[in-house]
Amino acid sequence: MKAIRFFSGEDIPLERHKVRIVQKLELLPVEERQQKIFEAKNNLYLLKNRDVFLDMLTDSGVNAMSDRQLSAMIDADDAYAGSETYVELEAKVKELFGMDHFLPAHQGRGCEKILADLLVRPGDLLPMNYHFTTTKAHITRCGGEVLELLAEGGEICQSDDPFKGNMNVAALRDLLADKSRRIPFVRMEAGANLIGGQPFSLANLRETADVCRAHDVLLVLDASLLQDNLYFIKVRETSCRDTSIRELTRAIADCCDIIYMSFRKLGFAKGGGIVMRDNPLVGRLKELVVLNEGFLTYGGMSVREMAAVTVGLEETMDETVIAQGPEFIRYMTGELVRRGIPVVTPAGGLGCHLNAGQFLPDIPGEAYPAGALAAALYIAGGIRGMERGTMSEQRNTDGSEHISPLELLRLAVPRRVFTLSQIKYCIDRVHWLWENRSLIEGLRFTREPEILRFFVGELEPVSDWQDKLAARFRADFGDSL
Ligand SMILES: *Cc1c(COP(=O)(O)O)cnc(C)c1O
Repeated sequence: MKAIRFFSGEDIPLERHKVRIVQKLELLPVEERQQKIFEAKNNLYLLKNRDVFLDMLTDSGVNAMSDRQLSAMIDADDAYAGSETYVELEAKVKELFGMDHFLPAHQGRGCEKILADLLVRPGDLLPMNYHFTTTKAHITRCGGEVLELLAEGGEICQSDDPFKGNMNVAALRDLLADKSRRIPFVRMEAGANLIGGQPFSLANLRETADVCRAHDVLLVLDASLLQDNLYFIKVRETSCRDTSIRELTRAIADCCDIIYMSFRKLGFAKGGGIVMRDNPLVGRLKELVVLNEGFLTYGGMSVREMAAVTVGLEETMDETVIAQGPEFIRYMTGELVRRGIPVVTPAGGLGCHLNAGQFLPDIPGEAYPAGALAAALYIAGGIRGMERGTMSEQRNTDGSEHISPLELLRLAVPRRVFTLSQIKYCIDRVHWLWENRSLIEGLRFTREPEILRFFVGELEPVSDWQDKLAARFRADFGDSL
């Protein structure tokens, strides 16, 4: 991809698309923002979208679609069984990944559910570079135990390691040689989500695959964030500089036995699916798809979604398309670093990640520093981020808190959605919050669900700190929004 340089020397990411449909945004006054976060029980998932100015909660299902995707959606062929739209999706997925079978699912966690139901038994050990929330919930539901084998340094927030999502291959080799526990598969996650969208290198994936093959253990890839990982391999892994995105996709697939993905992220649309080589498991998995997701030619997806995915996957092979997200995130991360604000570096995919542990060092993990920062940023700017720290963890079996080694506030940058001035506004409000961080205190649960508590749990501030924060905002910004 040829870069576009500015005569001024400024290093800013230039959009390689134009906007043709827009949605109006409202920014509420700070007093109303404080009231809304109170009504949402300090859980940003419980906010109404109309009360959010910049929705940076997630990149899931909210990426902007292209004109070609939209026109393909109108063209879709609707049928319960054997729709032409499904045939085209299946062909595209098999072409890109070079695999024999495609099994559709309604979204990523649908794939995780049927894989866990079939493969994971009580007492099993599941090694992976890093866990994802829904992945871990399904594995533990089936009695399995997740073991993270992230390569050394992956959990260090600020570093210059280009591949913090790498697997610790030596540790994996020892583990697989040990054989004291049943290991149904090894899982690699592309663009490791919870550590800040950090990629693995192709070399590391290849070594991981060699170890798995030597021990005859399946290698399963979670490719939900593959698009960012592909871009990072292309720009950061010297040996891949001259390899096309299409060739890299195939090289990654060649390492794996089973690949599953959320099309809410990969492919700029919605849905999910599993691709795999010929394997005796295929028939059993298909039964579970029909039981849980829907018939084999839609798996819970509408034909419009499938049509959009087919086009979106092809567009993912275009480096200028997949560069936009990571380049915006790189810009945002760089500007925050310049202001001395602790963020995860190097910049990863899917979003910019504030290091809430360092932002709010006096708030203990039990009072959810990243959750408190999320609530504070909504009050400061109507910006909705997502807590990725202790609140997103499951409690230990004895009921004690599992304190996350990373307390992150993720500010997702859904692909092609925001303009650079909106990103600048976000940087500005984070900066203001940084200057006023001494006002922020913790949160506590008033209602705590047992499973995936962060989605619908209810919380309250431990003091009146939110009144003070809103008052300081009003004092600093006068009568402006
Ligand atoms: C989002 C995500 C999932 C789950 O996908 P959904 O479509 O949201 O169910 C699984 N793994 C990773 C790495 C993800 O980012």
